[in-house]
Amino acid sequence: MTHYETLGIAKDASAKQIKASYRSLVKLYHPDRFAEGCKAHAETEKRIREINSAYAVLSKSLSRASYDLELNQALPHSGAEPEHCDKCGKPTTYWHTPGKVVLCHVCAGTTSKKMAQGR
Ligand SMILES: [Zn+2]
Repeated sequence: MTHYETLGIAKDASAKQIKASYRSLVKLYHPDRFAEGCKAHAETEKRIREINSAYAVLSKSLSRASYDLELNQALPHSGAEPEHCDKCGKPTTYWHTPGKVVLCHVCAGTTSKKMAQGR
């Protein structure tokens, strides 16, 4: 579960929305609402800890930014992107190398007889 899910907010929620959501959740899960020692009380305490740590991260723009970075890196297919031809946009069979001009076999002319004949 991400901190965003814990607080029930969208990933692009504003600081104001984060605060509002946090406040309503804290009220909702306040351990004082349940008798000490009962199951709901223990669960509520656990939940409020998650909410507090989520809010601690997301309420500060710096720690939120680094958390976002972490989330993005945790996504599948991170790092290596499939390579696409710069000319026709078709995927090549390679992984993308940043800064390199990429052409598929057809555009690069390695399999195209047309290019050679057209001149
Ligand atoms: Zn191409």
